[in-house]
Amino acid sequence: MQLPFDYSIIRRPRRKTVTLRVSPDGSVSILVPRHLRKTEVDRLVLSRAHWIEKKLNYFQNERPAARVPEFADGGRIQFLGEPSTIRLQFQQRGRLKRPEWSDSVLLVPIPKKYQNGPSEEIKKIIEKQVSVWYRTTAEHLFAERIVVFGKQLGLHPRRTRIRSMKSRWGSCSSGGSIALNLRLILAPQWIIDYVIVHELCHLTHANHSSEFWSLVGSVYSDFRKARKWLRQNGHTLLLTGEDKI
Ligand SMILES: [Zn+2]
Repeated sequence: MQLPFDYSIIRRPRRKTVTLRVSPDGSVSILVPRHLRKTEVDRLVLSRAHWIEKKLNYFQNERPAARVPEFADGGRIQFLGEPSTIRLQFQQRGRLKRPEWSDSVLLVPIPKKYQNGPSEEIKKIIEKQVSVWYRTTAEHLFAERIVVFGKQLGLHPRRTRIRSMKSRWGSCSSGGSIALNLRLILAPQWIIDYVIVHELCHLTHANHSSEFWSLVGSVYSDFRKARKWLRQNGHTLLLTGEDKI
């Protein structure tokens, strides 16, 4: 059998079904029950070759590249789905002011004594300023939207936390607290709204049943589009350079 890609076979003792996986790094694997014969595995892979190639092509050519933020004057960052540019503002004295954002420009105050300082040091201060600003902005904005959708749904979390999470956009505890990923502050507003609605609805349904989705749909009809956006673009939302997904 000639296939234009390699794949690895992962055998699992208790597995009853077959799952094909194509990863963003271009690796293809197939999870199979322990005793499935190699010829049968090959046949299964061959029968899905078209789908696999489509996926591989997507990851190689169409998937949006991750956007690593640049903490420098003129550096590019994201905010609410908008690519934005950092502009430094050297501040003579007093308590360092907060960054201000308007028209895709984030004005970041920096102590004047760093004006000719080493760029590594400036970078650290910018990063600190931007991350505090992301967090405080997220706290205000997310809280506001929780009130808006909470009223529509008649659901109110006991507590909301904003955390920087690797693999989830939000979570809801059995005690009625929700957590939202800080990285959402980089996403468009309609995506933030979707995640908030999703987690609020978990206060009633602790699952992804059809009842859950119909409750989501009652206040957020485009949820399929939002889920797709997150699947395709979630990895581009990086708060720092080390924040690789
Ligand atoms: Zn969920």
